[in-house]
Parts: sequence; C-alpha cells; structure tokens
Amino acid sequence: MQVSDQKVVTLNYVLKDDEGNTMDASQDGTFSYLHGAQNIIPGLENALTGKQPGDTFSVAIPAAEAYGERDPGRIQAVPREMFPADIDIQPGMQFQAQGPEGQTMMVTVAEVREDVVVVDGNHPLAGVALNFEVEVVDVRDATAEELAHGHVHG
Ligand code: ZN
Repeated sequence: MQVSDQKVVTLNYVLKDDEGNTMDASQDGTFSYLHGAQNIIPGLENALTGKQPGDTFSVAIPAAEAYGERDPGRIQAVPREMFPADIDIQPGMQFQAQGPEGQTMMVTVAEVREDVVVVDGNHPLAGVALNFEVEVVDVRDATAEELAHGHVHG
C-alpha cells in the first residue's frame, strides 16, 4: 500500500542538523502519523507521498518547509514584573505566553536585563534545516474515527 492521504504511516527515522548531529530519532516502529492531516512538517509529508513499506530514503528539508524561518518580530522585550517575582529568570527558560491573537504560545528567554526580559516566540527549530533518514515500516487505511479526529489512535 502506498503512502497517500487518509493512510496511517509508521516510520523509523533519524533527524540530523546540518552539522550531522542527531537531534531526534525513532527506530523501534512506534512512530505513526495520519498522512495529509498536517501531523508532521510539510517537507517530510511531501517526501513520503507515494512511498511504500520497506522504502528507505534521505531528505533535506529547508527551514521554510519545516518549522519556518526565524521571525525577528517574535522577539520582544517584556517588563520584568510580567514574570513571577519568585522565579530567577535565566536565558533558555521557557514560559507560556499569550500571542497577539490571544493564543497560547511558548516563548524562550533570550536575555535578562535589569528591568526587562527579552523573549523569543520563534519555535526552537525555526530557521533550522532538517535532514531526515527515513524507513517506511507500515502503511494502513485510517479508521473513520481517526479521520474524524485528524490523528492516529494507538
Ligand atoms: Zn482521537
């Protein structure tokens, strides 16, 4: 069975950055997703279309087809008093914040100054090209319930 919309695909993969460092991996046949439902990044979903169980391939995905380019507009200085007073704020800490449309988003502390904290609302992998080595393990029809929910059920 070929990978196409409304199929549940099981993959083994290794994800590396451009320096060859392994960032993530799943190699025990436990990673499954619903194809065509935007469960995975667009560049990887496109590369998988038409593949079959047993196929192996490598794909380099530019940032724009992964987690997007870094947007400088998502970096902003926030008054220190917006954060809990009892927390020692350090660069690299992550907080939930309200986005411009009221949505919940994760921000990462980039810099701490005396009265302001500079936070970065970009995804940690924004601007990063991703290199996948993929093995297609299984392809099956999604159930009606999985299609209704837009994700795979275990
Ligand atoms: Zn569900």
